[in-house]
Amino acid sequence: MTTSTTAFAANILNADLHCHSVVSDGTLSPEALAERAKANGVELWALTDHDEIGGQHRAAAAAKANGMRYLTGTEISVTFANETVHIVGLGFDPDDADMQQGLRNTRGGREQRAMEMSDGLAKVGILGAYEGALKFVGNPELISRTHFARFLVESGVCKETADVFRKYLTEGKPGYVPHRWASLRDAVSWITQANGMAIIAHPARYKFTPNEEYALFTEFKAHGGRGVEVVTGSHTAQEYVKYAETAKEFGLAASRGSDFHSPEESRTDLGTLPFLPGGLTPVWELLADRIQ
Ligand code: AMP
Ligand code: MN
Ligand code: MN
Ligand code: MN
Repeated sequence: MTTSTTAFAANILNADLHCHSVVSDGTLSPEALAERAKANGVELWALTDHDEIGGQHRAAAAAKANGMRYLTGTEISVTFANETVHIVGLGFDPDDADMQQGLRNTRGGREQRAMEMSDGLAKVGILGAYEGALKFVGNPELISRTHFARFLVESGVCKETADVFRKYLTEGKPGYVPHRWASLRDAVSWITQANGMAIIAHPARYKFTPNEEYALFTEFKAHGGRGVEVVTGSHTAQEYVKYAETAKEFGLAASRGSDFHSPEESRTDLGTLPFLPGGLTPVWELLADRIQ
């Protein structure tokens, strides 16, 4: 057994394998995130920007500069059973052309969707939301609901971003525009064909019936998916237990990540979640040869 395999074989590792930078809808640069992760004791880190891997080389270099191990990462938006599902990819080749093209296609509809969101908000008297959201965008191709939320907080419409989502940006609300993202099959294929591992992000967040959730896990596995987030900033302690069981039932490896976006907005800081429960295979054990 090599030294690196031994070092990453335990559940007791401060791995944070899910967070966002200005390359998608976070507010910090990859370099500032790396410094924050290091300061919080993170040993193995991954930056997982939405539908975009443009920050990967910077993040890997910043991890190295801070003495942390690194896995390449992304979080792909998928439509499954009429719901948006997020698939995290880890350990893939960031220069893989098919993956880059797939992500470019996934980003493609965001500008049009953002203009429609802005039209919806204008109908309830909130004017200039598209231009307002753009001021918060680091990467115009990645304009997201998060950027609209920041604009509505800045302009005093709501006190915090969670209120904006509840009142304006979720299904049935004036700024909500349904969108078709990548298919589950495509997202899993892009990741696995680039030598990475596909992981279901924060499964407790989806509003699925038990049958739909079973179908998600079954199809995900059939397409080659290998992992599920068990300990995430989006789960309660009971949900850690529930999805630890799901991981065992489906024979999936388990991941851990804060989903940190911003010091002002995120409840869970980098590297501060509980360790993975015992009896699970950590994703980093299967990805040992891809850790930088
Ligand atoms: P989009 O990809 O444009 O649909 O935006 C999705 C992003 O919005 C997620 O990645 C989260 O960062 C953020 N988000 C979704 N729901 C909420 C919520 N209820 N409160 C705060 N942020 C949210
Ligand atoms: Mn986000
Ligand atoms: Mn997500
Ligand atoms: Mn995320």
